[in-house]
Amino acid sequence: MTYCRDEHLLIPESDLDGASMDTLAVRAGQIRTGQLEHSDAIFPTSSFVYGSAAQAAARFGGEEPGNIYSRFTNPTVQAFEARIAAMEGGERAVATASGMAAILSTCMALLKAGDHIVCSRGVFGTTNVLFQKYLSKFGVDISFVKLTDVAGWQAAMRPETRMLFIETPSNPLCEVADMAALAALARQHDALFVVDNCFCTPVLQRPLSFGADLVIHSATKYLDGQGRCVGGVVVGSNALLEEVYGFLRSAGPTMSPFNAWVFLKGLETLPIRMRAHCENALELATWLQTQPGVDHVYYAGLPDHPQHELARSQQQGFGGVLSFTVRGGREQAWAVIDGTRMVSITANLGDVKTTITHPATTTHGRLSPEDKAEAGITENLIRLSVGIESIDDIKKDLARGLEALK
Ligand SMILES: *Cc1c(COP(=O)(O)O)cnc(C)c1O
Repeated sequence: MTYCRDEHLLIPESDLDGASMDTLAVRAGQIRTGQLEHSDAIFPTSSFVYGSAAQAAARFGGEEPGNIYSRFTNPTVQAFEARIAAMEGGERAVATASGMAAILSTCMALLKAGDHIVCSRGVFGTTNVLFQKYLSKFGVDISFVKLTDVAGWQAAMRPETRMLFIETPSNPLCEVADMAALAALARQHDALFVVDNCFCTPVLQRPLSFGADLVIHSATKYLDGQGRCVGGVVVGSNALLEEVYGFLRSAGPTMSPFNAWVFLKGLETLPIRMRAHCENALELATWLQTQPGVDHVYYAGLPDHPQHELARSQQQGFGGVLSFTVRGGREQAWAVIDGTRMVSITANLGDVKTTITHPATTTHGRLSPEDKAEAGITENLIRLSVGIESIDDIKKDLARGLEALK
């Protein structure tokens, strides 16, 4: 067969204008080769060939679009980028080697020495380290503000503020940010508003529709959903993504085609998985509130949550992550965790398997005692990433853990 010089090797998928999230998750971005495979093809190739020397020159010169080298573009990675861009409602996406590579690439591409970031307190621990330990070395200054304190955000703005960075809902206490208010503030100051949408995914929340400039994901979490691969992605306008792409192409933290293929498979089931996660988490949160020994349950789906109404107005569901405090301290919290038999003791989240974590000694263990207190990370706090097992079995297992408090 002579497909290698066929100009029409890649056949775009059918028209999806106006398609719903469930359809985009399954079909957006697929490209078919001349073999007419039904599932997405995987292209494990570092480089690409040309029909002629003149074509090679045109590709390198940028006069003709097309693949050159997989650090720049790869068809499997592009299919993943097109699908997640469609789901987030963005013009373009750029996939990265990890969620952290997505955050780093965004900052390297769009900030310079002398710029200032305002970031919500309690963001993912490594994001905190990246900003405070590494970006600061290159002259980028960071301030941290309480996620829900809009006046605090206003007060933190400086003439050189170029980026507002948040996660909503927050981890592990499920606080919810007013995205439209922060987007307006960013616009007033000519700063970018960046939302790490890892916890909600586009199925539950589309930050671009609330005025965010860029959405970031750790694809490692719900987008994969089955704990197999590490990856990330940035979504937004063509103009901003061209800058991010430029950094990636030069610095190299690109996504591998194999991982992109796994994420494509993950996206196909994302909407039904997210509905199952939300349903189980809401039922578990409600049940935990009735359990003796449980002090407080943090979940935006509960009517007594301080941002419950805001969450309802921004989200299509309240997500799969919740946390709760037990009567006592570290000893009691650890006893509850160790008393379970099915749920996984791991810091990972967004998996179909339920996971249980003690934030104060794992994910948030590197915070200073003051920062822990400020972020509400107490010794008696337990975080759950609720999976899609039967809710009855999850409850039964947690009841086993809670026995330790009797
Ligand atoms: C895990 C995570 C990241 C980092 O993603 P990696 O894929 O582990 O690099 C960033 N933000 C949030 C909210 C996360 O949970």
